[in-house]
Amino acid sequence: MPRLIFLGAPGAGKGTQAKLIADFCKIPHVSTGDILRAAVANQTSLGLQAKSYMDKGDLVPDQLVVALIQERLNNSDAQKGWILDGFPRNVAQAEFLDSLLNEIDQPCDYVVNLEVPDEVLAHRMLERGRTDDTEEVIRNRLKVYREQTSPLIDFYLMRKKLTVVNGNQFMEGVAADLKKLI
Ligand code: ADP
Repeated sequence: MPRLIFLGAPGAGKGTQAKLIADFCKIPHVSTGDILRAAVANQTSLGLQAKSYMDKGDLVPDQLVVALIQERLNNSDAQKGWILDGFPRNVAQAEFLDSLLNEIDQPCDYVVNLEVPDEVLAHRMLERGRTDDTEEVIRNRLKVYREQTSPLIDFYLMRKKLTVVNGNQFMEGVAADLKKLI
């Protein structure tokens, strides 16, 4: 069963596709955004610490997300395969993940970059209407993506792990391309 990392700008459709492929392969869909939103809703200590960053569209501090991922990948359901959606989100997180996966001897098979043109991204996010999807927060999330997350494309290109999938097509088309890949 595959181990996949999904990269892509906010609004690229990572979450939707990650869920589809996780169901298809019967592996857990590990979305740091979903886990953090649940923590905020349940007012756990993680949620209370993460909320102000999420509300602004900033990244939650690395030490919080890194601990969350380490714990999640330790779960018994994650020993055979997984899809990471929303993690890593900067180079420090990617380096942490690299050494964690080495340590637990679970190399990742592919890093998928879902490519979608900038002008499509903001439009899609405005349509989904999440509470952190106001125009100002969206602008900040795109800026954070460009500055902190997009360098991961080169990071994984240099490690010969990167695969590009066209995210600017109907949902079914993207899903079909992903299934071909795995
Ligand atoms: P989107 O689909 O818009 O990219 P996510 O659901 O992945 O959004 O994440 C929502 C918010 O959760 C982010 O704006 C950020 O504040 C926080 N978050 C999610 N993953 C991470 C991460 N790996 N590192 C830091 N913050 C994160």
